Amino acid sequence: MGTCITALSWGVGSCPHTASLVSSHPGPEHWHKDFPIAKSNRQSPVDIDTKAAAHDPALKPLTVSYEQAASKRILNNGHAFNVEFDDSQDTAVLKGGPLADTYRLVQFHFHWGSSDGQGSEHRVDQQKYAAELHLVHWNTKYKDFGSAVKQPDGLAVLGVFLKIGDAKPGLQKVIDALASITMKGQSAAFTGFDPRGLLPGSLDYWTYPGSLTTPPLLECVTWIVLREPISVSSEQITAFRRLRFNKEGEAEEPMVDNWRPPQPLQGRRVRASFQ
Ligand SMILES: [Zn+2]
Repeated sequence: MGTCITALSWGVGSCPHTASLVSSHPGPEHWHKDFPIAKSNRQSPVDIDTKAAAHDPALKPLTVSYEQAASKRILNNGHAFNVEFDDSQDTAVLKGGPLADTYRLVQFHFHWGSSDGQGSEHRVDQQKYAAELHLVHWNTKYKDFGSAVKQPDGLAVLGVFLKIGDAKPGLQKVIDALASITMKGQSAAFTGFDPRGLLPGSLDYWTYPGSLTTPPLLECVTWIVLREPISVSSEQITAFRRLRFNKEGEAEEPMVDNWRPPQPLQGRRVRASFQ
């Protein structure tokens, strides 16, 4: 029996992959065969054309309430690594901005490149960043994460670009944990982490309706992408690249370039919270 890395990484849906796959990491260009929604009209990521992204004065400021966030565990899921949070209560929530409801933080993860010139999923005027952070939240008007991903307003993902420069001190606890989760399926306890240390100074954002960027690619996400990137050091991003896609004992496959390229906007408007 084959297992589906990516569908299982979201804990939703079933996986039609079989052991006949040539690679254990079928690239984004193959996803449509098992997940036809890949070619639908609300897919992510997208290229953000800053000239076309009009300021919407009706957009409210974002409210990020992470003071009581309770991290639990860090996991290599074979596509990226997730830092998971206790989402049994409204301890860490995102609201305001384009959101009509309260969204609870469940996990964050990153996408990154094999080199500093690529790695982000979203682009800004075609510019790629070295990596992109996704803080994933689900709408508390639904019963749980698994129910929320079936709804068009089920998730809100806060995206933050990473560029190479000074180290991000708030990221270092994550970096230090990676050595214990090198291989797919490995996890470690990871408590007391403050996700506020991963945010830039400004919460100015772009927003548009989109999807998960890995299978099952469900069209359930309100994307909120921050304009201001954070800086991380070359050493910090190098630690991401020391992770492996493979399980222990399997052929070594460095975990790099786990990003999906931009998808067609198909008439969607990207709105800006700022002038
Ligand atoms: Zn992501």
